[in-house]
Formats: sequence, C-alpha cells, structure tokens
Amino acid sequence: MSLARGPRTARTKVVATVGPACDSGEGIEAIVAAGADVLRLNLSHGTLATHQATLSRIRSIEARLDRPIGIMADLPGPKIRLGLRVEPEVVTGAEVMLRGGRASSASSESSGTASSSGASIASIAIDADDVLEAIEVGDRVLLDDGNIRLRAFEIDRTEVGPAIRCSVVVGGPLRPRMGVNLPDSDPELPAVTPRDLELARAMAAGGVDYIAVSFVRDGDDLRRLRSVLEQDGVAPGLVSKIERPAAVRGIVDVIAASDAVLVARGDLGVEMDIAEVPVTQKRIVAAAVAAGRPVIVATQMLQSMIDAPTPTRAEATDVANAILDGTDALMLSGETAIGSHPALAVEMLGRISRATEAWADEPERVDSPEASLVEMADPWMPAIAAGARRIAREIEAVAVLAWSHDEHTAWLLSRERFQIPIVVFTSEPRLARRMRLLRGVRPLVVPPVSGRGAFLRVAVREALAAGITVAGDACVFVHGSGRDSDRPTDALGVLRVEEEGSADA
Ligand code: PGA
Ligand code: MN
Repeated sequence: MSLARGPRTARTKVVATVGPACDSGEGIEAIVAAGADVLRLNLSHGTLATHQATLSRIRSIEARLDRPIGIMADLPGPKIRLGLRVEPEVVTGAEVMLRGGRASSASSESSGTASSSGASIASIAIDADDVLEAIEVGDRVLLDDGNIRLRAFEIDRTEVGPAIRCSVVVGGPLRPRMGVNLPDSDPELPAVTPRDLELARAMAAGGVDYIAVSFVRDGDDLRRLRSVLEQDGVAPGLVSKIERPAAVRGIVDVIAASDAVLVARGDLGVEMDIAEVPVTQKRIVAAAVAAGRPVIVATQMLQSMIDAPTPTRAEATDVANAILDGTDALMLSGETAIGSHPALAVEMLGRISRATEAWADEPERVDSPEASLVEMADPWMPAIAAGARRIAREIEAVAVLAWSHDEHTAWLLSRERFQIPIVVFTSEPRLARRMRLLRGVRPLVVPPVSGRGAFLRVAVREALAAGITVAGDACVFVHGSGRDSDRPTDALGVLRVEEEGSADA
C-alpha cells in the first residue's frame, strides 16, 4: 500500500560501474535508461585519460537527457597486487617464494623459478616492497579474493628486501596484477597513496560528484584528502569504502568524516571472517542511516548476471535483504563493467527494489491465520509459552526445560523465539527427530516420566550432563501435570539448579 501517486519507482538507488561492457555512448545511455543513478569509474583499471574521456561522455549524455547523473571516481587505494609477470599457477601443497619488485629484479631469475637449497621453487613478485616487511611467519597471504591461499613459514631478510617462503594451502591459476590480501599482517598502509592523490585531484578538477576512497583506516584518511582538495578549490563528496577491520572498529569516526559510506563486501570478505560480513553490513548500514549519511552496499549483488540473463535466487534475496537493512543504494561492479547484460542487471535491481519496498510498505506484512490456529488446538499453550518467555527474561534464565507429548508444545515454545535453549524432553525418538527442524529447540529423548518431581529430576540431570546448565542457574520449566487430559501442557514454573543435579523448584 503506497500513498505515492503514479507508477511505483524504486526508492533504492543504483550505482553502476562503467567498464568495457558499457563504456560507449549507447552503453552508458542504456544503463542510465535502465535506472542507474550514479555511475562509478573504477580507477583501478584503465588510464586517467580514458576515465576523463568517459567523464565527459557521461556529461554530454546528461545534457542530452536533461537529468542529473552522479559520477563517482573510485580510487585504487593501497591494494597490493602481483607483478606483471607471473607463473601460470601455484599448486596446492607446493612451496612458493614471495618477493618484492626490488628483490625480483635484483635476482637473476626475476620471475619464474628461484633456486634455494638445491630445490627449485616458484617465485612470485609483489608490486609493493614495503608491505612484505609486515609479513611474519604464520601469516596468511591470500590471492584473488582469497581463492588462492598461501601461508608464510620462513622469512629470509636480505638487503633487497625479504624473501618469504610460503606453503600453498589452496592453489590455483595466477594472473598478472592479481589482488593480494594480508589479513594477518596489517602493513599500516595509508588509504590515499601519492598516486591516489594525483588521480583524486585530476578527477575532482574534472567535476566528479563523489570520490570513493578505498581501504579507509580512519577518519583522518578522509580529512587529509579533503583538505588537499579544498586547497584546489574543489569539494567532491568523499565516500569511505569500508573494507578493512580497522575501519569497521572505528566506524563512527569514519562516518563522521565522510559524505557517504560503501560496504565493500569484496575485500571485507577476505580481510575478515566471511561469516561476520552479513552482520557487519547490517551494522554499517544502521550506523550510516543513524548518522544521516547515504550508504551503498556493494559487490557480488548480482554476480551471476555477469554471464547469465537472470540472477540466482540467493542473489535476488541478498539484494532484497540489503534493501530491508535500509541501504540507500546498491552497487554493480563486474555486472555492468564487464558483464554480458549490463542494462538487464540494472533493471533487475529496480524490479527487486520495487517488489521489496512494496512489501515493506504494507502495514500488516504477515498473513496471519496462525494466531487462531494455535488457539484452536490448545487455548492455554500460547499463553504458557508467552509467559515462559517473559519469566525467562526477567529471572535471566539460561534454559527452558519442557516436557512434550506432541509437537504442539515445542511449536509454540519455538515460536516465542527465545534467545536461550529450549530443551524439550520426550520419550518418542520420532518426535525428537522432527523437532530438530525447530529454531532454538534441543530435543532430548528420555524414558517416560510421570509427575512434576520425576520430570524435574530428569530434566535437571540431563541439562547438567549436556552442559546446558550449571549449578546456580535459573531455568523455566513447562510440563503437563496430568490433571487435565485435554491440555497436556498446563504447568509453568521456575527453578534453580542445585549442586548434585537436584532442583529447587
Ligand atoms: P573494489 O571495492 O571493487 O574496488 O575492490 C569493492 C569491494 O572490495 O567490495
Ligand atoms: Mn575493494
């Protein structure tokens, strides 16, 4: 239900990266017509001259279409890369020698094989000499967004820089200029390198609207760049790309110094545990929205559309979830820059946005016959489950201990979405198996027990044995007194677990 008039347009914005797949007059017009709001120029690739040409191409399209188009120049930042000449591949289980550009050109075999202690091992050159100093024994060296994984096991510090022997944990094919991540080493690189500064000044002078700063560490990275640009008399918006754990830790200061933030899931997923990326996205989006700064969620949004005309179900769902997180904009990278379907990818974001926003706008989002369903089956149980939830929170219980003859009690306890384990005791293995599906429920099979005292003795003993509770813990219990055969679950209480496994109920 929307109060807006006219056909629904997506409120969530689209940032589309310009690249070979669309970098022509028609190509750019097509992605703008498909719904791109801001166009990103990725300065990690191409030359300054080609980006300046693209910039003026976009401005003339803008004039012709008579609608504003945002342009974001994305700085390469201190991204570590392999050199230009690389081995075709590294093999799992093998050893490789990592050297800086200086050491590689000093050695007789600049790329290829270096002879060491009689054995011949592949040598890989990295374009940044200084960062190698930060690597220590045991550190991970990740190539190609973590697809290839090395681990340093011996470091030989020579006058031309360190030679780092690594074991290849996961091998794969190498390409020149492949990205390198050192998640354990923290080489203290400033986000804006001298080359970045040069690019930023040129693109700002050319009139880009935003400059995206890669690998931001803290707010000072932004403040320093801003003051240089101010001296030039230009003031593009500065977008912080959050792709280092340090920036996540200091997110408040980073946001304060930025005009927008970008959740850079590509490098973030290599620099930190990928399992933490989804919640990190939610934290950054929430922090940016709270601070009133626009936020962009980026990378692999519709990755499979680089080749295919439709996304995977998981990608469509990821896009919808980013919208529900509250992001301002979604970014496409390879999908529009090098993909086979740039305009279709932009359109797809719009379609998912419209459907997701329409759902989010509904005042009553859940079709809800279930309240009446649960009451029909047992009018007391919903109240008992809700009461258990309230009591558990107030007494800081560590577990719910419940007896269940059927799935009904377990369904309704699970429905309360407790943050503590719901231990459901049953004498029926078949029932226990089915309960494995229920959120928060830990079924335990025990011999049949009758009466409150027997149930509580068994429940406490088993919960202690399973390590769910220790002596002194408060628990909530739910069981059937047996007094009312129509209502198998009719009792709710609290207990404190005692030393030898008895309960003080
Ligand atoms: P990139 O940044 O595409 O410039 O690497 C985005 C990311 O790391 O997710
Ligand atoms: Mn990145």
